[in-house]
Amino acid sequence: MASFINEEEIARILEQNQMPDSKKVNDVLIKAKEMKGLDMNDVAVLTNLSDPMQLFELFETANHVKEKIYGKRLVIFAPLYISNLCANECSYCAFRAKNKEIVRRSLTQAEIKQETEILIKQGHKRILLVAGESYPKQGFQYVIDSIASVYEAKVDQGEIRRVNVNVAPLEIEEFKLLKAAKIGTYQLFQETYHHETYHQVHTGGKKKDYDYRVTALHRAIEAGIDDVGIGVLFGLADYRFEMLALMQHIRELETVFGFGPHTISVPRLEPATGSTIASHPPFALPDLDFRKIVAILRLAVPYTGIIMSTRETAQMRRETFALGVSQISAGSRTNPGGYTDSLHEADGSQFSLGDHRSLDEVIRDVAEMGYIPSFCTGCYRLGRTGQDFMDRAKPGDIKNHCGPNAISTFMEYLMDYASYETRLIGEDLIDDAINSMEGIARERAVTLLEKVKKGKHDMYC
Ligand code: SAM
Ligand code: SF4
Repeated sequence: MASFINEEEIARILEQNQMPDSKKVNDVLIKAKEMKGLDMNDVAVLTNLSDPMQLFELFETANHVKEKIYGKRLVIFAPLYISNLCANECSYCAFRAKNKEIVRRSLTQAEIKQETEILIKQGHKRILLVAGESYPKQGFQYVIDSIASVYEAKVDQGEIRRVNVNVAPLEIEEFKLLKAAKIGTYQLFQETYHHETYHQVHTGGKKKDYDYRVTALHRAIEAGIDDVGIGVLFGLADYRFEMLALMQHIRELETVFGFGPHTISVPRLEPATGSTIASHPPFALPDLDFRKIVAILRLAVPYTGIIMSTRETAQMRRETFALGVSQISAGSRTNPGGYTDSLHEADGSQFSLGDHRSLDEVIRDVAEMGYIPSFCTGCYRLGRTGQDFMDRAKPGDIKNHCGPNAISTFMEYLMDYASYETRLIGEDLIDDAINSMEGIARERAVTLLEKVKKGKHDMYC
């Protein structure tokens, strides 16, 4: 058993911090404002609070920290499902091996290029490549070839500049191949850290092995991939338990490698074809607790990105931007080939979506709320990953890169892809953003913006 997920420790800490009084909560929130992160006890205090006034203060503090570190920036990406073949039996997922209710498909390299071109024409620059755990006859090489196909696709001046990957756990040698294929982040969700629940919902295939999965990010980092993403599929077990287990996983990575995860994802169980549990989650997570989770994570690991997918509705996504979300997907399809053939989504999708809007609609909405959509891919291309990213992020230096890069890549989007209405709103927002910037960040933003306005592409610092 992977000893760093210690269920007795979690139970003890949750027990010790039940019904926290307002002094205890205040102390944790004061500590959180220092933006140095929180420990397991602090997280237990915040997960156990329920008083409306305390919740309000938690949300206010999370908003403060989010604005201080990230400003109004929101990174945009799209998932690209390349295959729904799978040998595992995850009871919550439509792709599980024995499910006969979906159409199975793995895209050819030509089809992957075609899907990518559609995303490029919409204006996307970042992709999250997703697959079930069974590959066509080429085996794992299929994933490597698919990444190459995505990077090869070009439409006019457009291209995908960062491919993140969410595929099943690998051996170190395979992770080295992913690294050589120039991936950005390797993402893997433990789904649930609760051992008993894990075994109940994973009844077949390699994914039954809890320890192999929970140690996958160790292998990825050892292979040289130092941007890794973690996550919990909320709804399977008690979220209080999952929050503390996430903290144990983060603590373990920090202890062994000196840095934690680059991102945390917070998927909630959504209905999926052929799955009963997906529509009736054993620990269904109410909206208020979902917002609480985002706020606590923002305070617990202030420099780690929080990702919100289109599983959630437009309204929920809007609410969580203020609480700590820093990356969102937009215009998503979760069936292989779904961008080319949007009519047959129901036939092969992994789960149902809460937000069906196009990229342009999402961008307009986000901009109207005062958030700057960022298509930046600068950090990992300049080697600002893992420990280096954390060293820079902590003193706030990253803001002097991310702010200007968000503005230049947003302007590139507006000029190349946006509708007329979106462009008007976006250009006003950029003017306001530049006016509120100071010092080196402002100088850089103005310089990059001038270059983009003259027709240059891919400008970043
Ligand atoms: N097959 C790989 C794996 O399981 O890690 C990677 C791809 S899998 C399609 C990506 C993620 O989808 C899973 O880790 C799981 O958290 C999520 N997922 C599966 N079924 C879901 C559902 N019904 N609702 C929301 N998310 C779901
Ligand atoms: Fe397969 Fe992943 Fe779905 Fe499990 S979650 S059935 S491993 S695609």
